[in-house]
Amino acid sequence: MKRADTAVGTDNEGLLVRRIQNGTVIDHIAAGEALNVVKILGITGTTTEALSIATNVHSGQMGKKDIVKLSNRELSKEEVDRIALISPHATINIIRNYKVCEKKGVEIPDVIEGLVRCPNPGCITNTNEPIRSRFIVTAKGLRCTYCDWIIGRDITSYII
Ligand SMILES: [Zn+2]
Repeated sequence: MKRADTAVGTDNEGLLVRRIQNGTVIDHIAAGEALNVVKILGITGTTTEALSIATNVHSGQMGKKDIVKLSNRELSKEEVDRIALISPHATINIIRNYKVCEKKGVEIPDVIEGLVRCPNPGCITNTNEPIRSRFIVTAKGLRCTYCDWIIGRDITSYII
């Protein structure tokens, strides 16, 4: 669907980005959304990634922004695109041996599967049936394909 801007950062941003040896830097996250980005990626205290978060970093382009750095993990396309649900202007930098090898924007996915729980208690995905949740991404939010329930803005509260 939509493609976010992939503007090149300033020199200062470059320094922040280059500090990890291998992994992923998620840059240009809307200020205050870093923890939600971490949540939407399924990173919890029990996962093994080395994580660092910078919040309210000065950005000429955005005023303030958040940055998330993940050592020794490269995000898949599916993981990257989830971020677009909460921060559509985020940029992803894949770092190998201290160098930015790949820089990409995030694209809002068409469908979200197995990531978000349907808020409708009567939805078949909330029964004992072995059915994965499935939502269509619409302008109004995420629409459950089983019961048509719509999750509006607060998507991160429903992450499984
Ligand atoms: Zn549902």
